[in-house]
Amino acid sequence: MTKNLDLFKQSQEYIPGGVNSPVRAFGSVGGTPIFFKKGKGSKLWDEEGKEYIDYINSWGPMILGHAHPEVIHAVQEVSQESLSFGAPTARELEMAREIVKIIPSIEQVRLVSSGTEATMSAIRLARGFTGRDKIVKFEGCYHGHADSLLVKAGSGALTFGQPSSAGVPVDTAKHTLTLSYNNTKELEELFLSQGNEIACVILEPVVGNMNLIVPSEEFLTTLRSITEKYGALLIFDEVMTGFRVSLGGAQELFGIIPDLTTLGKVIGGGLPVGAFGGRKDIMQKLAPLGPVYQAGTLSGNPVAVAAGLKTLELIQAEHFFEKLTAQTKKLTDGLTQAALDSGIDFCARNVGGMFGLYFSKAPPNSFSDVMSSDREMFNKFFHHMLGLGIYFGPSAFEAGFVSAAHSDSDIEFTIDCAKKAFKNI
Ligand SMILES: *Cc1c(COP(=O)(O)O)cnc(C)c1O
Repeated sequence: MTKNLDLFKQSQEYIPGGVNSPVRAFGSVGGTPIFFKKGKGSKLWDEEGKEYIDYINSWGPMILGHAHPEVIHAVQEVSQESLSFGAPTARELEMAREIVKIIPSIEQVRLVSSGTEATMSAIRLARGFTGRDKIVKFEGCYHGHADSLLVKAGSGALTFGQPSSAGVPVDTAKHTLTLSYNNTKELEELFLSQGNEIACVILEPVVGNMNLIVPSEEFLTTLRSITEKYGALLIFDEVMTGFRVSLGGAQELFGIIPDLTTLGKVIGGGLPVGAFGGRKDIMQKLAPLGPVYQAGTLSGNPVAVAAGLKTLELIQAEHFFEKLTAQTKKLTDGLTQAALDSGIDFCARNVGGMFGLYFSKAPPNSFSDVMSSDREMFNKFFHHMLGLGIYFGPSAFEAGFVSAAHSDSDIEFTIDCAKKAFKNI
């Protein structure tokens, strides 16, 4: 038995499914997970010493590559001064200033410890601010695992939502309405019939949790105008896209100003940080000023904030996002060309440092498009690439990530491996 397999077998004895987050179990692609021991720059090494080029980057946070010396140094320095106070620190002020400076719509911000906490808190705040219960989300978008967000569409777009996980009360799910992404007409119909009861609309402004999907301009501008018209709040869940598709996130890229924004992933540089922020008049409804309760023992943790602050500093280097975007596009263009040369139905696209790989003729625009791509082909491609030392996300429904540490030769090597894979699948 290999060491990876042995560790997985043992883990299954003590941890449900052997993993602490479901996608890690390789359930979607088959086979068993790799256990990692070390990362440096664009590379990872597993418990057996095998080397990989990493295109997951911890699902986004490692935008500078693994074990960046300046981030590691910041963490080491700050840890000497205590790991946690549970009281205010100057570094949290510095972090809040930085976020307000970088993210166009944020006037005030609160730090939490995960993306899930950020979206859960933003939804409560939207409900508290508007005095309304109903919320709207889109099929295939992921906003963490809070009860009111683990909901799928009912029998029609205008009917009550159904829990998408056991343990979510039907009574909770019924307040969540689920529409199709990029479907402006459905959105307009819903607001026409129930607009005055809707607290907020939450979406991923570039979707990275059903592969990668880009919003149409019409969809985004309608979302902004219709929520404003009916007094509902627009929440951009930029946990993945913030500091990733451009410095100021998707809102900067598309020039749309949401009322609230949620952040995570890159903001902690690999340690647990999340944040939610937006209009000051809304944020001031939070305790201790207002009636909406929200709290956290480790919120604004000094070590996590130090890693995040250093990461935010380094990604503001001149031309950082131009270079990251160009490098990511070099990968997606190269893979698309390699597939074309082998006559395989495949395409790829990027937004900033995020990318999608699709075994279909054209990129998807909605969840149903994603569902009709060839998942069998993706799974074969995934395993072939893994064998050659290329680590993509173990699911056809996940976006991929390039870091600033990915060199030209990393990208060229990856494309060469893909040429081999496309011939053999
Ligand atoms: C990852 C993610 C979350 C959840 O963040 P966690 O830190 O895993 O709780 C929420 N929304 C989006 C868009 C995400 O990509």
